[in-house]
Amino acid sequence: SRVDNPYDGAKVYVNPEWSAKAAAEPGGSRVANQPTGVWLDRTAAIAGVNGGMGLRDHLNNALTQKGSGELVVQLVIYNLPGRDCAALASNGELGPTEIGRYKTEYIDPIAAILADPKYASLRIVTTIEIDSLPNLVTNTGSRPTATPQCDVMKANGNYQKGVGYALNKLGDAPNVYNYIDAGHHGWIGWDDNFAASAAIMKEAATSEGATVNDVAGFITNTANYSALKEDNFSINDSVGGKSVRESKWVDWNRYVDEQSFAQGFRNQLVSAGFNAGVGMLIDTSRNGWGGTARPTGPGATTNVDTYVNGGRYDRRIHVGNWCNQSGAGLGERPRANPAAGVDAYVWMKPPGESDGSSQAIPNDEGKGFDRMCDPTYTGNARNGNSMSGALPNAPLSGKWFSAQFRQLMQNAYPPL
Ligand code: BGC
Repeated sequence: SRVDNPYDGAKVYVNPEWSAKAAAEPGGSRVANQPTGVWLDRTAAIAGVNGGMGLRDHLNNALTQKGSGELVVQLVIYNLPGRDCAALASNGELGPTEIGRYKTEYIDPIAAILADPKYASLRIVTTIEIDSLPNLVTNTGSRPTATPQCDVMKANGNYQKGVGYALNKLGDAPNVYNYIDAGHHGWIGWDDNFAASAAIMKEAATSEGATVNDVAGFITNTANYSALKEDNFSINDSVGGKSVRESKWVDWNRYVDEQSFAQGFRNQLVSAGFNAGVGMLIDTSRNGWGGTARPTGPGATTNVDTYVNGGRYDRRIHVGNWCNQSGAGLGERPRANPAAGVDAYVWMKPPGESDGSSQAIPNDEGKGFDRMCDPTYTGNARNGNSMSGALPNAPLSGKWFSAQFRQLMQNAYPPL
């Protein structure tokens, strides 16, 4: 009874809590009616944290927003044991071995609510465990980017088991559409990572009772900043006999932007054994890169670096930078069927919510202080030992960051 693309012909749920925060900012009413993801980022979020809305509150509200048409509700399933193994800003409440608690205290209660017949008329999109499976590929073993925490998760298999369990249990409801997180082009687009990531996604999607039929698709660029389409250069361009792949920015990646990556990775996933009908979502919440710094044409053809750096919309210092990026803007507004193989552009990361604090802040959520969120940090192997490019004075991940939201609106592309 599932449709091919749940976004087709459907409105998408506007989270009233996010909407109120956006609307309270100067000029925020221009975007406050956009749909954003509802993050179930800890067990308590199911019931609602600090008097806030819980999952049933959102679904009840969604029934009202739905009216007589179709409506998609976007949930982010984000609470794996040993969460965020290559970073600290979104470490979670469950330790590396607590897969049992993940199943019984987190996934089972969510699955029970989603299976309530009351919600059968909603199209429920779940995006499954951001960053987890890609971390097992790129941040383990003999890689220079490896972390001890990711090695632990690779050895105990709890990321694959958790993802498999979530796909299987949530997928029992016929109106649930599971999308697995697939990183972004500036992570999975290299040859070493590409096929290996699709393979581990297949492994996870066929464990703990899950099958590929529990997978509607994949999401790329969640909470990241990779540009949707770089119009001023392509992967096939050369300057002075050198491919753009040899530029410092591209650094031998096969992809220079998110849409080409999403389409290319879709093909890889199908060859790895996923259904030919899987669709991609692209998180465009913060990848607009508009404003006065946006290049208006190709860079100078002096060499591949001037060409790429002069033309690229993505103004990050390094494509591995991920925390509260200075200069970013809101991206394409959410919409269905934007390109071949792409089910929708979505705003899964609610713009204005921090990626991590700029300094250590005590908290009871398990969140650490990651220096990638500190504007004075000079980097590590995962960002080419570059400056972090993060905005200063950021609150804990998930908390409202007014200064960032204002800059995102200012640098929106398309402009507001
Ligand atoms: C945080 C979550 C938050 C989400 C959406 C993540 O980085 O860890 O707590 O819900 O972002 O803002």
